[in-house]
Amino acid sequence: MADNSDKVVDLKNLSFSDSVSYYFDKAAPFTGASQGLLGQIKACNSIYKMNFPVKWGDEVRVIEAYRVQHSHHRMPTKGGIRYSTAVDQDEVMALAALMTYKCAIVDVPFGGAKGGINIAPRNTPVDILESVTRRYTAELVKKNFIGPGIDVPAPDYGTGEREMAWILDTYMTLRPGEVDGYACVTGKPVSQGGVQGRTEATGRGVVYALNEVCSHADDMKDLGLTTGLAGKRVVVQGLGNVGYHTARIIREYGAIVIAIAESDGAIYNEKGLDPVEVHKYKEEKKGVVGFPGSKTLNSSADALELDCDILVPAALEKQITHENAPRIKAKIIAEAANGPVTPAAEEILNKKGVMIIPDIYINAGGVTVSYFEWLKNLSHVRFGRMEKRFDEQNQRNQIKMVETLTGQTLSPEHVKQMIHGADEIDLVNSGLEDTMIKAYQSIRNFKRAHPDVKDLRTAAFGVSINKIRDSYYAMGIFP
Ligand code: NAD
Repeated sequence: MADNSDKVVDLKNLSFSDSVSYYFDKAAPFTGASQGLLGQIKACNSIYKMNFPVKWGDEVRVIEAYRVQHSHHRMPTKGGIRYSTAVDQDEVMALAALMTYKCAIVDVPFGGAKGGINIAPRNTPVDILESVTRRYTAELVKKNFIGPGIDVPAPDYGTGEREMAWILDTYMTLRPGEVDGYACVTGKPVSQGGVQGRTEATGRGVVYALNEVCSHADDMKDLGLTTGLAGKRVVVQGLGNVGYHTARIIREYGAIVIAIAESDGAIYNEKGLDPVEVHKYKEEKKGVVGFPGSKTLNSSADALELDCDILVPAALEKQITHENAPRIKAKIIAEAANGPVTPAAEEILNKKGVMIIPDIYINAGGVTVSYFEWLKNLSHVRFGRMEKRFDEQNQRNQIKMVETLTGQTLSPEHVKQMIHGADEIDLVNSGLEDTMIKAYQSIRNFKRAHPDVKDLRTAAFGVSINKIRDSYYAMGIFP
């Protein structure tokens, strides 16, 4: 990765991994880390590139795949696996680096990693996807690049629960009897050791983050907005895992999803679209265009330029560039995808006063809940199993005591409403919400403590670098 600290950077032509380095270099002077330590934090530790053959109908094809472990300052390393024809080494390195900074921001004790397979998941027969996934896992096992204490993959673009279940099954076949083996991968189906709430965690985290961001009256005033999510007009790009759950949950908070962009085009309705219905339509018709009651925009990219309060790019990187940035009208951009805004675009948007909530913070809900899943797998017990009934009995006792002291009796309906021991989903969502709120406060406080830090991304990188610096100090490696 380039060291951009002492040269003029051509922002328009940075590769994805160089843009991550550029953001790092921009934040580094505001941290208390020495040059040597900064070099160590930024460096990519291990890259495993593989090519393996897979039988594909009557022929054999060679599959190109990667696993990159960006930082070993905390173990295991952690990061999703992406299936896309755009996968290359630079992209996986960039995404692995983002994972390191992301984990630090949300206090998830992992180093960053990422995997990628160059394949078109939506045009590949399922049996071939399964062979590729199983072979990829076997390659990782062979090189000791996967394991509960080594490196723990998760879903990303083009992958989901199904692929994670194949990875788990292959790992357990090759490593029989490993008592903590289920913690080798997260994002698994709940029946296979997954945790409630993981599938929607990234989107839910985006909404918790936006709810916190929009609660600060002075920040909202600067943007010409009122506080709260209710009534905010939202545009979402990409109705996959992250985009769908973001759109669905933000609507539950009273926001109005006025447009949704997908690969086949974009749809619009000023009164609001129901993401659940649009998603059903997309699953059936393999696209969103034609959704009843909606207008179709000229192109999918046009949705990014609509007048709205919050724009949520939730598809892929480099969607907002120096070319379309001048036409962006959103007041807030929530980077649900990784790297959707390029550095050249960001410069333009910062000048326009657009608030960009950076990927390394706002899409960290997935890895946060993956961490909970990993903890569940290592403890071999469902969250809430031990205390749910005990807590309910305590609540019952407290109600009885209040009734005795006051001489009043609550109706059975009120008692029912008040007694609720936490289930796994309650604890997961509560832990996720707390994480997103605390992380935003640390980023906002960093920005306010450093008047020369003008944007949330630089502040987020600053927070992250300082946390990683502290773990190196604690190990006594750097003075
Ligand atoms: P996904 O494969 O479930 O969904 C992506 C969706 O985007 C698909 O429906 C696809 O058709 C659509 N799409 C692709 N190109 C598009 C375009 N040009 N315009 C509009 N739509 C387009 O992937 P995902 O898991 O939702 O990941 C999306 C982004 O979020 C990626 O950048 C990923 O790295 C990031 N992310 C995902 C997770 C996670 O938990 N899955 C966590 C953090 C970050």
